[in-house]
Amino acid sequence: MKYTCPHCGNKTFTPLRKALCGGLSSSGKPCPECGGRCVNGKLSLLVNTVLRLTALIMIIRIYFKHTTLTEVFWYGVVPMIAAYVIGFLFDMFFGKLTEAIKRQ
Ligand SMILES: [Zn+2]
Repeated sequence: MKYTCPHCGNKTFTPLRKALCGGLSSSGKPCPECGGRCVNGKLSLLVNTVLRLTALIMIIRIYFKHTTLTEVFWYGVVPMIAAYVIGFLFDMFFGKLTEAIKRQ
């Protein structure tokens, strides 16, 4: 299973390579065929924003409550890690690659 490069139209991106491209604000990864830089599109940005915002809200909530260290771990640390892992997996298997806007 490979993803299509938006520059040359060849299926050159593996799921892992696609996930490592980052979002719209990053400089992306070059295509092995044409060298054009690619990033994950708007859907990835939306999903990652929602995930991180949800994790942040959970962390803020736990911060203002007097809780035990175990609770801080389960409701503060775990959601934060989960947000990044789910975001990464989403980039691996969903969404489309787009041309990088940033130039290096
Ligand atoms: Zn290409």
